[in-house]
Amino acid sequence: METIKKLNHIAIVVRDIDASLPFWENALGIQLDHIEEVPSQQARVAFLPVGDSEIELVQPTTAESGTASFLEKRGEGLHHLCVEVADIDAMLAQLKTAGIRLINEEALVLPGRKMAFVHPKAANGVLIELYELTEPE
Ligand code: ZN
Repeated sequence: METIKKLNHIAIVVRDIDASLPFWENALGIQLDHIEEVPSQQARVAFLPVGDSEIELVQPTTAESGTASFLEKRGEGLHHLCVEVADIDAMLAQLKTAGIRLINEEALVLPGRKMAFVHPKAANGVLIELYELTEPE
């Protein structure tokens, strides 16, 4: 049976990364790794490593992105959890067999990783991202 290897990251939607960072960096003492523009997600993302996982602060950079509408509807907060699996295709097949509602029936293939989302209705209201790390081409 396929299972979860680890929690890869937790994504939190914020209005303003610069305004948010002092809590995570100064109050909690997490060392910021870097901030990156991610045009494919229309977002700016701050990466805060915590042990073997990461907290990502995601600030929408356009009004049309998924995270921008999330922010508008629900305000700042937890956006998704990302769990790492060894074989995402096998995990998706396992979930389909169990009748679990998915956002992506097939994994999206990106450089270095494959990913898919499980619908929050299947997971106690939390959007779950599945991740498989692959060899860079
Ligand atoms: Zn993610």
